[in-house]
Amino acid sequence: MTSITQRLKQIRSQIRDAELVYKRQPGSVLLLAVSKTKPAEDIAAAYHAGQRHFGENYLQEALRKQQELGAYDITWHFIGPIQSNKTKALATHFDWVHSVDSLKIATRLSEQRPAHLPPLNICLQVNISDEQSKSGITLAELPQLYEQIVRLPNLKLRGIMAIPAPQQDFEHQRQPYKTLYQAVAKLNRPELDTFSFGMTGDLKAAIAEGSTIVRIGTALFGERDYG
Ligand SMILES: *Cc1c(COP(=O)(O)O)cnc(C)c1O
Repeated sequence: MTSITQRLKQIRSQIRDAELVYKRQPGSVLLLAVSKTKPAEDIAAAYHAGQRHFGENYLQEALRKQQELGAYDITWHFIGPIQSNKTKALATHFDWVHSVDSLKIATRLSEQRPAHLPPLNICLQVNISDEQSKSGITLAELPQLYEQIVRLPNLKLRGIMAIPAPQQDFEHQRQPYKTLYQAVAKLNRPELDTFSFGMTGDLKAAIAEGSTIVRIGTALFGERDYG
């Protein structure tokens, strides 16, 4: 079996290669290791190989692992669907939340962010091509929500996150990211510096279209078992 250390090395080199090929600044794409359903030992293994940013989808599971890994200097990202009764814990225990999809959730996160912590980094999740999923705002809603959320004092609105419907073909993978990137560029807000684009299946297409954070689970930790 390939070890997490070896896989991490491979993914880092894929990211580097894509940065070169698509004329992205070297080191401009952050690797977020998505550790949902995986044990704390796997996170520790990646950590010892130099990985610092980890993404989780399920609050209770994430809080358990954070307890186990309390001594580690990890930057925690929440990337799962958000219920409003979970915002206090999210505001307290995470550095980033990628999946904000309403003014109500954003307002709660801002109000509940503890005063001793820096502003919470957030992304707005935009639903570009997946009609099945109810998560995410539409592109049409983005400009107005931006204006409302950017005023919230304890948040730092960094950019957008998207999970396009899966596509096999590379050009089809690129298309939704291109559309999203252009929509954000049109807002012309330099503080929007984050594009949370790309997973195991479309990392390269995402980097081609401006991703600054790729969220990689399967390629790093192996298939997930939800049993
Ligand atoms: C699970 C998940 C990922 C990781 O997906 P892989 O295909 O395993 O790399 C990325 N982003 C989100 C939002 C996820 O829920």
